[in-house]
Amino acid sequence: AKCSQNGTFSKGELQRFGPIELNPSSGVLNYGQGLFEGLKAYRKDDGFILLFRPEENALRMMMGAERMCMPSPSVEQFVDSVKLTVLANKRWVPPVGKGSLYIRPLLMGSGAVLGLAPAPEYTFLIFVSPVGNYFKEGLAPINLIVENDFHRATPGGTGGIKTIGNYASVLKAQSIAKAKGYSDVLYLDSTYKKYLEEVSSCNVFVVKDKVISTPAIKGTILPGITRKSIIDVARSRGFQVEERLVSVEELLDADEVFCTGTAVVVSPVGSITYLGRRVEYGNKGVGLVSQQLYSALTGLQMGLTEDEMGWTVK
Ligand code: PMP
Repeated sequence: AKCSQNGTFSKGELQRFGPIELNPSSGVLNYGQGLFEGLKAYRKDDGFILLFRPEENALRMMMGAERMCMPSPSVEQFVDSVKLTVLANKRWVPPVGKGSLYIRPLLMGSGAVLGLAPAPEYTFLIFVSPVGNYFKEGLAPINLIVENDFHRATPGGTGGIKTIGNYASVLKAQSIAKAKGYSDVLYLDSTYKKYLEEVSSCNVFVVKDKVISTPAIKGTILPGITRKSIIDVARSRGFQVEERLVSVEELLDADEVFCTGTAVVVSPVGSITYLGRRVEYGNKGVGLVSQQLYSALTGLQMGLTEDEMGWTVK
């Protein structure tokens, strides 16, 4: 059964960044009817600005909108609005090698509702902000704690889409982990507390005997665009990549672990702590597979290597 609402988005306009007006009884403020996306624009040395697979973000927003009973902009509207916003903010795209422009599209129920129901009106907006490279001096490993008490998503819930409520549910676990010195939390499935799901804002991969494995997408894990791209890049380089259930034991026994996401790109994991046990990975936590895939993906995203996949958009 589908609950997607039909509706057209009228052409918007560029506005200076600042507070927006929102009805106190809007669907987004009261019932969390909101979705977001995240992507980056990189400057190339020939002056062109590159987007990485923006139509994938548009499709993920459409999928999420269906789950949240919201109408969504078409792929074309989404990509055109992203391009328009980036062009209007061209001067904020950092110089080559100095970072990127982070792009945050938001879709929300802005119409008023009092009883629990989808909102009668929706707003789509995009804001941008320059961001530095996640790793200032080459790749640096992150330290994760595996969470046994908090879960990010449950079967039948909204874990597979980029709805704002998913991020509300991780704030506490993430704050506790950070206060203890960890970079972030790795979540397990909520049924068996045994299988890996993902980190608060990135997907996870384990490498054992050169075979790369990542949890299969099954409704409780966000289908990351970086994840999907890394799977293709790794396969094109001859690696065997498996999408399946990956247990926490396999994580602890891995040769190498890394995370993928728009913010972290490919981020090696230096250590994992699970129920008081800490495992450190070899090569000072920066595995060779992570390094190789990081170079391959950033080469494409920054326009340093030829885009054989046809993934970048000017
Ligand atoms: N999982 C979660 C929960 C996320 O928020 C993100 C960031 N969008 C990812 C994974 C990675 O997705 P992507 O590669 O599309 O950025």
